[in-house]
Amino acid sequence: HAKGQDHQQYAFFNTYLSNKVQRKHELELLLKKADYHQEFELYYQPQFSIPQGELIGIEALLRWKSKEKGMISPGEFIPIAEEIGSIVKIGEWVMEKAIAQIAEWNKQYDLNLKMGINISPRQLNSLNFMHMFDSFIQAYDIKPEWLDIEITENSAMNNESTMEEMFTALANRGASISIDDFGTGYSSLSYIKRFDVNRLKIAKPLIDNISSNHSDRQIVKAIVMLAKAMAIKTIAEGVEYQDQLDQLINLGCDEVQGFFYSRPLPAKELEKIYLSVNEANKIVQVNS
Ligand code: C2E
Ligand code: MG
Ligand code: MG
Ligand code: MG
Repeated sequence: HAKGQDHQQYAFFNTYLSNKVQRKHELELLLKKADYHQEFELYYQPQFSIPQGELIGIEALLRWKSKEKGMISPGEFIPIAEEIGSIVKIGEWVMEKAIAQIAEWNKQYDLNLKMGINISPRQLNSLNFMHMFDSFIQAYDIKPEWLDIEITENSAMNNESTMEEMFTALANRGASISIDDFGTGYSSLSYIKRFDVNRLKIAKPLIDNISSNHSDRQIVKAIVMLAKAMAIKTIAEGVEYQDQLDQLINLGCDEVQGFFYSRPLPAKELEKIYLSVNEANKIVQVNS
């Protein structure tokens, strides 16, 4: 009997694995032949200062509407794109699109918003990266200060020497650098100083239980204090509830981003809600 069960479990596991492998293989092929202009779209999620509630930036988040498979989340396809190398071309598409968008918005509405762009380590390793960066900045005639480059904690730690070079090059141009998902990876505090980072994005898992879990709250508190001591900004990711916001205001966190305010939105919607109406609309209520 036990043996039969083993076999069943084995067969089940096998099917599960081969489905996963097959799905991944399919996505690889589709990614390679995807028409970016048709199938990709950037969504935009606003970021606000606290407690003022002023719109200060926007993060660009990639969406893939595959002709064959429908909507596929970046959590699934970005790692695949990294593995097969497509991320370099995809990243180029994202960079151009995001730069064009912030150029349009900041000029049209006379703003100085920052556009956050997620970058994979593999893109930074490519020699072409800074060249691409410079040529888009020129082509769309934007201030590099309008750009915030987001790199995850672990990828920054994995490629220290390349990272240091790239961070310096970006900082020299006036772009800012945020460490994404901070507080869940293996952190070395010294690299924050060495890499001239501008902002820490405190990872959502630490924010999730900030109200109910004492030690999570203490960790966030320590991160905020550390950042303040180093003159670095903090932004909390994945804020969904008022009580999380209250805690973050209490701890002195600088900025927030999350469903509490807004999900990532298509460009037109973000523009309609947050940019185009009037000055008062740029301030959202945070303490009601
Ligand atoms: P990330 O950069 O940490 O982005 C934040 C993710 O959290 C986004 O998921 C966003 O939609 C989600 N989020 C924001 N606020 C909340 C909230 O209050 N609750 C919950 N449950 N989720 C929230 P998304 O868009 O699915 O992106 C997932 C990850 O994919 C990103 O994490 C980033 O690492 C990667 N990614 C997205 N776009 C790009 C891109 O253009 N290039 C690269 N290299 N990576 C990207
Ligand atoms: Mg990010
Ligand atoms: Mg993040
Ligand atoms: Mg700096």
